[in-house]
Amino acid sequence: MSSTTDRIESETVRLLRVLEAAGKRNTAQRVAICRSLAAHPGHPTVAEVFASVRKEFPMISQATVYNTFETLHELGAIVQLDIANHDHIHYDLDVRPHVNVVCRHCENIADLHIDSVVALIDEAGERSGFEINRAAGLILYGVCPECRSRLSAGAWNEASGGRR
Ligand SMILES: [Zn+2]
Ligand SMILES: [Zn+2]
Repeated sequence: MSSTTDRIESETVRLLRVLEAAGKRNTAQRVAICRSLAAHPGHPTVAEVFASVRKEFPMISQATVYNTFETLHELGAIVQLDIANHDHIHYDLDVRPHVNVVCRHCENIADLHIDSVVALIDEAGERSGFEINRAAGLILYGVCPECRSRLSAGAWNEASGGRR
């Protein structure tokens, strides 16, 4: 078994255990939803997981996928990422506070674990008096390396890849 397969399996099991502990029955559909969530390489949306699970379960509704995401989010097993100007809410399986760097051009999201992030979030909370949702981490906006090289090569134009 490759390490990717191992990671997907252990993430799937982690999500299913959280649902089980909350008294949810792990139906075949829920298992498929959790596996698809775990297999997503980035920050999945409900629509993406729905599209993949639907291939195996044509009768599944998007509401079932949405409800499973919401339950996992409420239980703290995944994090909701509401990114400015994105049509859909993304979810993060990584619940450790980290930096999500969002590309303004292609909507690619990179995860960065930086030691000082937790200290920075805590200091921001202390100084602002806000109760900060640490799991949501930090969201930074920029242009990803692929888009930067496209831009500098002059190949970029709004019609070829700009989503808005
Ligand atoms: Zn990009
Ligand atoms: Zn992330």
